[in-house]
Amino acid sequence: MSNGAERIRRLVEQMGLLAEWREQAACKGMAGSRAAGRPNVMYPGFGDEAAVRRAKQVCWDCLVLIECRRWADSLPREMDRSGEVIAGLTSHERAERRRKRQH
Ligand code: SF4
Repeated sequence: MSNGAERIRRLVEQMGLLAEWREQAACKGMAGSRAAGRPNVMYPGFGDEAAVRRAKQVCWDCLVLIECRRWADSLPREMDRSGEVIAGLTSHERAERRRKRQH
């Protein structure tokens, strides 16, 4: 495999795009639509605690929380999405876990 192809394969793997567990994700299909005035539940941003709790509740009820947490823990900082709840954690909480792992 060429260096370019290998790099793309690693990126796709890190993004979890091909992971089978994604099919069972409770957040699947929850992407918002600005045009329809429908917010993305998993993207509460910052400062709206009720919205963060709603997003986290989706994760607590998710069948693949463990797989998702493992994937989220493997994400490099530059690939993590600020303001989004992933695996039951805010981006600040994921950054904190990342910091603790590095020490
Ligand atoms: S744990 Fe949360 S972010 Fe991860 S797949 Fe499930 S609902 Fe989505």
